[in-house]
Amino acid sequence: MIVMKFGGTSVGNADAMRRTAELIERARRTGPVVVVVSAMSGITDKLLAIAEAARTRSEDPLSLVDALRAHHEAACRGLELDEVDDLLAPIDDLRDVLRGVALLRELTGRSRDYIVSHGEMLSARIMAALLTARGLPARAIDGWDAGIVTDESHGAAAVLPETWRRIPVSVTGIDSVVPVVTGFLGGTEDGERTTLGRGGSDYSAAILGRGLSASEIQIWTDVSGILSADPRLVKSAVVLPELTFEEAAELAYFGAKVIHPKTIEPAVIAGIPVRVLNTFEPDHPGTRIVRTRTPAGGAEGRAVAAITSKKKNLVLSLESTRMLAAEGWLATVFDILKAHRISVDTIATSEVSVCMTAEARYEAALARALPELERVARAKLTTGRSILCCVGLGMRERPGTAGRIFAAVGLAGANVEMISMGASAINITFVVKDEEADRVLSALHTELVQGPA
Ligand code: ADP
Ligand code: ASP
Ligand code: MG
Repeated sequence: MIVMKFGGTSVGNADAMRRTAELIERARRTGPVVVVVSAMSGITDKLLAIAEAARTRSEDPLSLVDALRAHHEAACRGLELDEVDDLLAPIDDLRDVLRGVALLRELTGRSRDYIVSHGEMLSARIMAALLTARGLPARAIDGWDAGIVTDESHGAAAVLPETWRRIPVSVTGIDSVVPVVTGFLGGTEDGERTTLGRGGSDYSAAILGRGLSASEIQIWTDVSGILSADPRLVKSAVVLPELTFEEAAELAYFGAKVIHPKTIEPAVIAGIPVRVLNTFEPDHPGTRIVRTRTPAGGAEGRAVAAITSKKKNLVLSLESTRMLAAEGWLATVFDILKAHRISVDTIATSEVSVCMTAEARYEAALARALPELERVARAKLTTGRSILCCVGLGMRERPGTAGRIFAAVGLAGANVEMISMGASAINITFVVKDEEADRVLSALHTELVQGPA
């Protein structure tokens, strides 16, 4: 059995949905499949905006829902589906919830997740109806009914172990009916709807893959695999035929949007290969993510396989003379950050200072934490910083790589502000100013991915 996950553009309109149906039918000829779908492209953003409009009463949320309904209805009509009102029935309770939000002028994480869940609920129902109409019996299953049990951290819920017991007894009859599961969605033990974080449908696919012991998890998207850099920023980026779980995890974590960072974990635990494939170029072999790969020297024997960049980060620098021989200083710093619910991404330390990055959304929390941090260190918060990350298995074997990276950054006229290297020695991460990031990314790509191995 394989899991096939289709992202927003793969179900973005009637034509894309038809292509997707063809791919599912093709796969179904060789064995059972479980399908996972995202919301139609742009719909999750729209639902979030509608929720906000209801809270602030800035725009009539119900007329925005009409537009949302019309968008899905147009897809249904384009697919010549019957009983469109039944398919779009979830929209009725969406209206009720929005009336409640507008009345109370209050939008909780719980109601936001409830509202946003409609994107995947609708696309799964439409996709299941399309497959059935084409002669392949299918049924839509919502994430919570598929056995994905989470905690109550709305917006970025964590999956609970109960999930592994529940999925196999919830997603059954795969041989006769194709399940079309909503990506991105889970439910608490109490039956509240939750979401797994933006882009979380990839994670849903991996969760189902692990829960059902799939032989492969396929992520169908709008590019032909994981590329050596974001193709929107580096035109000459190339598809990487193979990556290890480790490499893919680093790339996803440091900003390669093509795959959600949490996707790798269930796949690694269950030892299931992941493939990233293009719905619009289905015969392209894409990228295979596997436990080990050969040659170990990186793509075509290169040290660096891919480079990511992530803009708009904060850098927190802490300097303390007391850090010298002061036991527990770092622990104090992290206790303060934890109390303010700040999650840091990269860290570099020296004897008297520590530097770390966090996403821009933590700016207010960090500003609140600063007075406490200043009690134990000289603290400085900088905004507008980009994290660049070079990843490749081959870096372990090539001691000169760091030199090449920083020489290229220097030639691009940028100043490196912080450097960090993972213990696994397959990534080098550093920080530059946002306005330098694109230039540095291109220079690194030219030097390390396209230049001589
Ligand atoms: P989906 O809706 O199918 O989940 P996403 O938009 O989440 O698709 O992810 C695919 C997009 O990720 C691509 O269109 C591409 O612009 C972007 N992307 C960023 N970095 C990379 C990379 N290194 N390789 C491939 N795609 C990347
Ligand atoms: N629809 C959700 C989002 O836009 C989940 C996903 O597409 O993976 O974030
Ligand atoms: Mg995605």
